[in-house]
Amino acid sequence: MSHCIFCQIIAGQSPAHKVYEDEHLLAFMDLFPAGPGHALLIPKVHAENIFELDEAVMARIGAFSQKLATAVKTAFAADGLVVFQLNGEAAGQTVFHYHMHFLPRMAGNNPMAMHGKVMAEAAVLADHAARIRAALGEG
Ligand code: 5GP
Ligand code: ZN
Repeated sequence: MSHCIFCQIIAGQSPAHKVYEDEHLLAFMDLFPAGPGHALLIPKVHAENIFELDEAVMARIGAFSQKLATAVKTAFAADGLVVFQLNGEAAGQTVFHYHMHFLPRMAGNNPMAMHGKVMAEAAVLADHAARIRAALGEG
């Protein structure tokens, strides 16, 4: 089994609340959300960070990131959406399999944190994933 938690999720060896999957990409809810609707988008091929990612894979992620951003914003009726991506420990990266974060923001929200401290309840993540899947389907 891979030591990479995201590769384990891709392989179905670890659970996740999925919002999108195709041959190359997987999107799922962050287990420690920095806010409601915090979703992650990863390539299925393991690459540690932006510097290692294949250009063609990067293009697929870029194209789909716009669809996912729209769906997450719609699903949570958010005023704004933060998209961020960390590379290397010094940048705050904690899982070393390339991923983009999608974090809905509401006007007047508290100062933004990139990482949540509390594991979300499974029922909440299941509901949030369903909302994003529905919004993706509508888009
Ligand atoms: P990074 O700090 O590397 O940019 O972000 C890693 C993200 O992955 C964090 O927001 C963290 O909450 C999330 N995360 C860590 N382990 C798991 C896991 O096992 N499942 C899911 N769904 N998210 C995880
Ligand atoms: Zn991996």
